[in-house]
Amino acid sequence: MTAAPLPALLPLLSPDPVGEISSRPCGDCTACCQLLAVVELRKPMRFACDHQRIGGCQIYPDRPPTCREFDCGWRRGAVPTADDWRPDRRGVMHVGWIDHPTGRPHDYLFELWQGALADPVVVAWVRTHTETGEITLSYRDGTWQTLSPEVPTPSAG
Ligand code: SF4
Ligand code: SF4
Repeated sequence: MTAAPLPALLPLLSPDPVGEISSRPCGDCTACCQLLAVVELRKPMRFACDHQRIGGCQIYPDRPPTCREFDCGWRRGAVPTADDWRPDRRGVMHVGWIDHPTGRPHDYLFELWQGALADPVVVAWVRTHTETGEITLSYRDGTWQTLSPEVPTPSAG
C-alpha cells in the first residue's frame, strides 16, 4: 500500500479520451457526486457535495463544468457495462485520466464502501487489466495502491 500520490483536491483535468459516452443512464446513482473533487465548489474528493439531495442534484441546470463534463468508466464502457457494474451497485467507480506531465492515460478505481475492491468479481477484472496496463486503486480508508504488469496483485482494502 502506498501513500496517496494525488492531492486531496484532485481536479478533473483530462477525462478519459478513450471510449464512447454511452446513452446508459445514471439512474439514481450519485457516486461521482460523492467521490470526485469539484474545484469550482472547492469540494474535496470523498466529501459529499452540499448540493446533493435525495433524487439528484439541487442545482442540476447550473452545475459546474467539472460535473457537466464527467462520465465515469461504466458509462464509457471502460469496465463491464452490465447493470451490476453501475458504481453505486458494484461499489467501485472507474475513471480514466491523462497523467501529467507524462501525458499517458491512467486508470483509477475508487472504492465507495469498505471491501468493494476486494470483491472477487472486481479483483478478477483488475487482474486481467493489469496484464497489460497500470491501474491505481483508491480505497475507502484513504489509502492508494498502484498495480501494473510488474505489481499485479491487489490487496484487501
Ligand atoms: S458515477 Fe457514473 S453512473 Fe454514477 S452518476 Fe456518476 S457518471 Fe452517472
Ligand atoms: S453540483 Fe450537483 S452534480 Fe455536481 S457534485 Fe454537486 S450534486 Fe453532484
